[in-house]
Amino acid sequence: MTTATLNPTAASPLLFSGAMVFDSSARSFRRADVAAIDGHIQLENAGSMPGARRIDCTGKFIIPGLIDCHVHLTGSGDPAELNAARTTPLAQRAWRAETYARATLHAGFTTVRDLGAADRLNIEMAHAVAAGLIEGPRILAAGLGVTMTGGHGHGFLATEADGADAVRKAVREQLRAGATAIKLFASGGVMTPGVDPRSPSFTEEELRAGVEEAHKAFRPVGAHAQATDGIKNAIRAGVDSIEHGVWLDDEAIEMMRERGTYLVATLTAPYQIAHRGLEAGIPSYMVDKGWQVLESHQDSFRRALQAGVRIAMGTDQGTPVNKPGENAQELLQMTALGMSSGAALMAATAWAAGLLRIEGEAGSISGGLAADLVVLDGDPLENIGVLTNQRAIRAVIQAGRIVRSDLPENED
Ligand SMILES: [Zn+2]
Repeated sequence: MTTATLNPTAASPLLFSGAMVFDSSARSFRRADVAAIDGHIQLENAGSMPGARRIDCTGKFIIPGLIDCHVHLTGSGDPAELNAARTTPLAQRAWRAETYARATLHAGFTTVRDLGAADRLNIEMAHAVAAGLIEGPRILAAGLGVTMTGGHGHGFLATEADGADAVRKAVREQLRAGATAIKLFASGGVMTPGVDPRSPSFTEEELRAGVEEAHKAFRPVGAHAQATDGIKNAIRAGVDSIEHGVWLDDEAIEMMRERGTYLVATLTAPYQIAHRGLEAGIPSYMVDKGWQVLESHQDSFRRALQAGVRIAMGTDQGTPVNKPGENAQELLQMTALGMSSGAALMAATAWAAGLLRIEGEAGSISGGLAADLVVLDGDPLENIGVLTNQRAIRAVIQAGRIVRSDLPENED
């Protein structure tokens, strides 16, 4: 693998001095200096480092690079582009996706999980980012999602399979192609015409086969699950996360809490479709479905939160009016429904890393982890909205490489 070609100075040590640094275990900020050496965080003795580039962060707040557990990086959020996607040549979609990946990274998201892309473009993008060929977040890619014949996502972001053995094979095919996460569809959804989001899809047996294959390869499984029965099938089958979780009843919430199943609510997705869909020109059947799910969705999230269900942040970026680079909107949605700013920040960093099984690589500012950092003008615990203000994001660092920065700098 080649080293990053985008920044020839990637190897020089960086020293971030004078900042307040987010401590995930205490869920608060403390004064500290942070060094990035060979792409990794060093906290001990970070105060003096001859030869390092010193970045003056006095009065600033440093958080871990943000993690979005549910994106579709091949989508812009432009409904017209989404409609044309089936007939747009692959190369064209790849070039466009590169700009979406860059926008996501520049907004402070240094890691994402891409839960479904036509032609498994997400896997190729993950390789291209890792090789330093394109700028973008570190990508855990599902390849294609796996859905039942005629199920949500079919013919586009998902491959069809019926029966446990076929699901098993479809999951193995994604893993063979290089998938580092698996997506199964346990219910209908909003964006496929003729598919009701309240109907379950795969049986528990089919889901269990998919989960088994993914877990054998140590990969996390996200289940698209909006319908109550689909959610319960997925939890029983042992998925790691329920994506969307629109219609959670008390029993489903209790099952998630007991088993430690994460909720990745993607509150932004139906919110945007309902509130901004018609003006953006998306079909009215989709807007109707958006409104249909919105109230239940928010209520489910509130109850799951109160019950202590594990929550990781995800947006479903790429769905209509859900744009790359605006991912932090989800944190506003979560806090508006009663989540504390500190918990929302954890859901988009350390807890997300836990779900994605990368807590030993990223998600907190700890010695030895990847130097993925975001430097902010304001305290996100006081105002989480600082994350959605591009001008308040003063620097983004990915694996010790400066992605963007307008902070003063000098040689140590
Ligand atoms: Zn999705």
